[in-house]
Amino acid sequence: MAKEELECSFCGRKKPETNLLIAGLDAHICDRCIEQAHGIVLEESKQSDSSDLSAELKLRKPLQIKTFLDEYIIGQDTTKKVMSVAVYNHYKRLLQPVSNDDIDIQKSNIIMVGQTGTGKTLMAKTIARMLNVPLAIVDATVLTEAGYVGEDVESILTRLLQAADYNLEKAEKGIVFIDEIDKIARKSDNPSITRDVSGEGVQQALLKLLEGTVVNVPPKGGRKHPDQKFIEVNTENILFIAGGAFDGIERVISKRLNMQAVGYSASISEDVVDQNNLLQYIIPRDLKDFGLIPEIIGRLPVLTHMDPLDAKTLRAILTEPKNAIIKQYKKLFEMDEVEFSITNGALDYIVDKAIEYKLGARGLRSLCEEILTDAMFEMPSSDDKALNVTKAYAEEKLTKITLKKLKAVS
Ligand code: ADP
Repeated sequence: MAKEELECSFCGRKKPETNLLIAGLDAHICDRCIEQAHGIVLEESKQSDSSDLSAELKLRKPLQIKTFLDEYIIGQDTTKKVMSVAVYNHYKRLLQPVSNDDIDIQKSNIIMVGQTGTGKTLMAKTIARMLNVPLAIVDATVLTEAGYVGEDVESILTRLLQAADYNLEKAEKGIVFIDEIDKIARKSDNPSITRDVSGEGVQQALLKLLEGTVVNVPPKGGRKHPDQKFIEVNTENILFIAGGAFDGIERVISKRLNMQAVGYSASISEDVVDQNNLLQYIIPRDLKDFGLIPEIIGRLPVLTHMDPLDAKTLRAILTEPKNAIIKQYKKLFEMDEVEFSITNGALDYIVDKAIEYKLGARGLRSLCEEILTDAMFEMPSSDDKALNVTKAYAEEKLTKITLKKLKAVS
């Protein structure tokens, strides 16, 4: 008897009609059916993308969120904890089944107060990365009231839509980081004379977004495209994180603490106040005294602070985070088969210079770049396959002139 001709168990094509026939236990599948099935798998996984979000969110408890943040961010333990809880609660609220017990969980929008370069943006970026949700980073200083030169507040949502590849469902569960929120503070304590374009008006415009509302958003932003259709974006489930340096707020805090110390209800007495980190005592009232309107403060109910970065933290930032600057250079050199190493002396020297020239964490990268540019230029075409950066090497590359230049750009 002729041997039974093999065929695809899915489409019935005989073996000679296929390019490839793969055997399973009791069945065969041809290349075309594999392609088709693959297409279906892709399509299905696209559709279940949004439910991925819920699956992922269910898995992350605050402790796990914090552990994730620890991998990328050095220190800032208080903020990490506060953020973990706020983010957890926010997405818990988002996942809550519709109930009829009248308990409406409020949004946990966050405000972070801390000097520039202490990791506020990094915190927002890391949270978005962990949750795999779109993130829009906007600068409050460019926002103006509708009708003035500058960007309307709605442009924030245009950015979020762009970050979500115009997937509305994803955008509506995304995160918006509003940087430099302190720059739209009212300039004076007297509300009647300060209806300024960049200040209170913008705060008023922001209110609605923070609270949760449906906004008509021009998908391309701006008023340059008058004909474009609007997209309705509901901000109800968007998590807003605001950040700002609030320069000078320490004075407000210190004044309040002193008054408390004099008064009967002294909770923190003079001798235990850590003068080097007054931000840790911040309360919402301080933000009001600084010039944020009470309504805005009310809609950013989670208030937290960033600690200043000391030498130890800066040193750790260089080498410890998952994508630490030094690890990145090591990888870059590796691609040219160059073995890169750097001594502790050189690392300490970089940290010292960052502090001396007040460059902060952002300066660490510029310093490394100055030190390593020559090597990165020369080594790919050289036979020399090892680079050990010592303090002397770093000193030689970082002249006073380059340091002054770095200070000027930072
Ligand atoms: P901010 O938003 O507070 O001005 P960024 O988040 O932009 O500061 O931080 C500036 C740079 O410093 C970033 O490259 C960031 O990676 C690094 N950085 C700042 N603080 C930390 C930290 N605590 N841990 C790790 N990296 C940090």
